Amino acid sequence: LGEPSEQWRRYQGAPTGSDIECKGWRQEAALRMLNNNLDPDVAERPEDLVVYGGTGRAARSWAAYDAILTELRELEDDETLLVQSGKPVGKFTTHERAPRVLIANSNLVGHWDDWKHFHELEAQGKIMYGQMTAGSWAYIGTQGIIQGTYETLAELARQEYESDLRGKLVVTGGLGGMSGAQPLAVTMNHGVCIAAEVKADRIQRRVETDYLMEFADSLDEALERAHDALDAGEPYSVGVQMNAADMLEALLARDEIPDVVTDQTSAHDELEGYYPSGYSVEEADQLREDDPDAYVEASLDTMERHVQAILDLQDRGAVAFEYGNNIRGQVETQRGMTNAFDFPGFVPAYIRPMFCRGRGPFRWAALSGDPADIYRTDEAIRELFPENESLMRWIDLAQEQVSFQGLPSRVCWLGYHTDEDGVTERARFALKINELVAEGEISAPVVVTRDHLDAGSVASPNRETEAMRDGTDAIADWPILNALLNTAAGADIVSVHDGGGVGIGNSLHSNNHVVLDGSDLAADKARAVFTTDPGMGVVRHADAGYEDALDEATQSGVHIPMRAY
Ligand code: NAD
Repeated sequence: LGEPSEQWRRYQGAPTGSDIECKGWRQEAALRMLNNNLDPDVAERPEDLVVYGGTGRAARSWAAYDAILTELRELEDDETLLVQSGKPVGKFTTHERAPRVLIANSNLVGHWDDWKHFHELEAQGKIMYGQMTAGSWAYIGTQGIIQGTYETLAELARQEYESDLRGKLVVTGGLGGMSGAQPLAVTMNHGVCIAAEVKADRIQRRVETDYLMEFADSLDEALERAHDALDAGEPYSVGVQMNAADMLEALLARDEIPDVVTDQTSAHDELEGYYPSGYSVEEADQLREDDPDAYVEASLDTMERHVQAILDLQDRGAVAFEYGNNIRGQVETQRGMTNAFDFPGFVPAYIRPMFCRGRGPFRWAALSGDPADIYRTDEAIRELFPENESLMRWIDLAQEQVSFQGLPSRVCWLGYHTDEDGVTERARFALKINELVAEGEISAPVVVTRDHLDAGSVASPNRETEAMRDGTDAIADWPILNALLNTAAGADIVSVHDGGGVGIGNSLHSNNHVVLDGSDLAADKARAVFTTDPGMGVVRHADAGYEDALDEATQSGVHIPMRAY
């Protein structure tokens, strides 16, 4: 990686305000978002270029980071920069409506598409793990996932309890970049959460940023406090420093069966993400250095126990689901554990109906750095979608309870659903923001982007496309079409990655950014991108035969060729 860049040390996050270093706001937005990803308040290990999700990086090396900044500063309004696995590799004259940056991260040809080949190439400095939003410069900290986690748990509570999570205990693992959102999402749904995390500093960080209420000294202490809160019907969350597999086994031994069990440790990566039981963090880090094969064995041993404990808790009455870290896939393929998939993934269980309507985690960041700009966008949401009660509730909760990290940002799930003029929800919102920027009500441009985990942008058979109705879980044409379509529609950054969320070879996905600078060009781009992008979600699910998607296509006039019904 080389020594951390001097420029990075100087920036300490995204530059803010309305003066720009680049030749246009589109290039400037890329520069700010890259630095925002590596803000010490946003990224998990910025000195190693790691943003979140195990080893998800924003640039391949510090030299590549410096080179990307130089290129962005020199990039003209009609040029496109190419970034291959976190390194700038070329620049061409294209045209003004084309993307300013095109990114491909971590992709390998099918036969070679596994961690072994990846790690060999990574060690030679030729490839980088981009996770999802790390390598595409769209990560905004734990706030980026919070609404998805909140919506998932709200849907679980509706399905299981016809209510919220009041009086219910949720146990989980992981308090890292994304996983750290879990306790707050539980308490926002009025429930009680105990989370196991091996690293004390991660627990502390979540307490400091108000994602977690307390740090308990032991599991017994955590249980005692959790029971008090459950009895009182109060929301409560507590972190305990221990291995998640050990915690679940300890709960079974005590006959403490939680209402809900899940996990979001970085199990997708058995070498650099997940921690084996029986070692302190320092001992495990040393073992990884000294004997990576032994580390992987120990890590998979623990994962097997971890999955078994989830299955046992499920047998004894807990609602169990996998939270997108591929822990079931890991033990099925690497340990032959045939019943690993006896508990469902969160997408088929709780998210797919939203995907069918093109709904997904839409997010935006105020490039000014001024929180007032985000509060103005909250007002815009309230003005545009007053009939959407859960969205109204979400905006209130987010304002009250979600601290900003790095550039002030907001996430909300918006979809296709057109109005009487045929404008989609996402486009309506983006066009309104663009107007507010043009009128000076928002002080600098706003960049709109999204997670790769979205309706039409990902193929991931153990997660977003698990158990598709027509068996097309592993067909990866869809995310590629999505990226091509985003480019055709004029998004300002477009990326395609392999392996996000669930590990190399297990997924393909894409995302986009559009910079709303108040210009007519930005309005044109926003109208096109925020129609085609959620539209892909409708098309993909309609093609698989989901009634909700076919209904959305009918209601919103999405053209589906060869539609049988
Ligand atoms: P992260 O690496 O920042 O955090 C994971 C945390 O788990 C770390 O703090 C690590 O110390 C801890 N940990 C690892 N093994 C452990 C163990 N055995 N017991 C207790 N703690 C352990 O990663 P993240 O960004 O939080 O993502 C976590 C996982 O969730 C990844 O696999 C990621 O791909 C997946 N993910 C899911 C979603 C989703 O929407 N469901 C979104 C993003 C990420």
